[in-house]
Amino acid sequence: MIHRVVASAIGLFVCAVQSVAAEPAEIRTEAMFNIWAEQNKTVVEEFKTFLTIEDLNQVYPIYQLARTASDWKVCGGSPFELPPKRLWPRAKSTLSLVKLLIEEKVLEGGEVVSAYRRPSLNICAGGSKKSAHTAAFALDIKGIDGSARSLCQFFRTRGAKFNMGLSRYPSGRIHLDANGYRTWGSDFTSKTSFCREFR
Ligand SMILES: [Zn+2]
Repeated sequence: MIHRVVASAIGLFVCAVQSVAAEPAEIRTEAMFNIWAEQNKTVVEEFKTFLTIEDLNQVYPIYQLARTASDWKVCGGSPFELPPKRLWPRAKSTLSLVKLLIEEKVLEGGEVVSAYRRPSLNICAGGSKKSAHTAAFALDIKGIDGSARSLCQFFRTRGAKFNMGLSRYPSGRIHLDANGYRTWGSDFTSKTSFCREFR
């Protein structure tokens, strides 16, 4: 009986933790992006052209690459934004790495839930001051739990060459960038990186 009570208490705790860490329902659909794009035609067209020229237009759909922070609404920010032009070379580095990861099936499927964030939104959303989402170009991708092991293996063996940044948030989403070779977890050091699970 005592065991059962303890077990159900643990069960409740696990549920509570999971509900805190769960991904919010995503309302930033392609249709919603198209409305935003109508009001931001010039930059959207220029960014689309840039992606096509660099052969990066098939990596993830633009409506996902334009998603800002998941907390955009509570922060009073825009649901979508594209990086300023000075950061496009950084976007190229990150997207080229992600393209390679997809081509080599290191990374399969998933959906980008956050990419560029302007500094004010990044701070409100709890991002670090030096966040690659603001200073460069980073992708948070959900639904790629099955790729965690292969991503860590790639990181260890070839990540340095690509300046690969790799982390996993409590919600399960995975952060990728090409803004410096590093991996980190809850204390922002490699000691807590999820890659420790796959040694
Ligand atoms: Zn991130």
